[in-house]
Amino acid sequence: MSYIADSARYDGRMPYRRVGRSGLVLPAVSLGLWQNFGGVDVFETGRAMLRRAFDRGVTHFDLANNYGPPYGSAEENFGRWFASDFAAHRDELVISTKAGWDMWPGPYGGPSGSRKHVLASCEQSLRRMGLDYVDIFYSHRVDADTPLEETMGALAHLHRQGKALYLGISSYSPELTRQAEAILRSEGVPLLIHQPNYSMLNRDIEQGLLPALGELGVGCIAFSPLAQGMLSDKYLKGVPDDARARRDGSLKQRMLSADNLERIRALNDIAAARGQSLAQMAIAWVLRDARVTSALIGARTVAQLDDSLDAVKRLDFSAEELAAIDRHAGD
Ligand code: NDP
Repeated sequence: MSYIADSARYDGRMPYRRVGRSGLVLPAVSLGLWQNFGGVDVFETGRAMLRRAFDRGVTHFDLANNYGPPYGSAEENFGRWFASDFAAHRDELVISTKAGWDMWPGPYGGPSGSRKHVLASCEQSLRRMGLDYVDIFYSHRVDADTPLEETMGALAHLHRQGKALYLGISSYSPELTRQAEAILRSEGVPLLIHQPNYSMLNRDIEQGLLPALGELGVGCIAFSPLAQGMLSDKYLKGVPDDARARRDGSLKQRMLSADNLERIRALNDIAAARGQSLAQMAIAWVLRDARVTSALIGARTVAQLDDSLDAVKRLDFSAEELAAIDRHAGD
């Protein structure tokens, strides 16, 4: 069935937040296509989730060269959904992709931060998605074997070519973030955004990265705010057959230790007292810091997506709630 976007999608339910000191805003909740949108997944479910997200004001979709599986298939699928459903809405969308992890065979296919890898990967991504440009292009990881000048130089080249409107980095340390920002600035290109892992079960960025981003005026989009689904009630009564911990290697069952489950149960009780699901509270919690521009979630079903997007109905926290969460949230 052809898609007609909900005319009420900008009716004020989804807040938009400024990315650092840039002119760009992003939805408080953005959707990533790392899992559940690949060639092995149900094509129509992926399409339904993208449609619902857009209908609810989610204007930002995040991809990477190797999202799938198989590698490249999330971008290929996205290209088909984009052509059929979203082409008319191109200027309402912020589409991002990344290079840096392993992607194609041979010495240039990654993991790599070389100019050779980054420029070729961007071309491939644009082709798969059927786009002339992406809104944000990321260096997905630090490559200790490539000079940072080379990786940032390649990003700046894409920016000058108009193939990337903005540039980002992911999972860079605070120190390398400062260096990357300075190199890009010397090339006359701002660093727009950093994409780190951040959730109630991984608070590492509060120590060095968030203060650095705040100081530099660089935005922050927090990936895996649900800790890959652990910050929900699904694992409190065992591991469901269809859950990520059962399905693939990215969420190890050892993460579901008795200690972690106890913390999750306590956090679930706090969420219930707030009248929220734990997933909703986990999203609201990463957004409590103004330096965090957007919570970058994943979803496997439209029902999950709807539940998570309802986080925006209650983003405020009392000091007592935050203190109670602090007693259980940590690395
Ligand atoms: P989340 O922490 O949001 O986990 C998503 C998973 O949690 C879903 O697939 C589902 O898993 C479960 N879930 C989602 N919503 C609910 C809900 N309301 N109730 C219960 N369970 C729910 O994020 P991801 O780990 O998927 O990452 C999100 C995005 O971040 C990626 O798509 C990607 O764009 C980006 N990312 C970037 C990385 C980087 O290196 N830059 C690394 C990782 C992610 P289940 O199948 O168990 O139900």
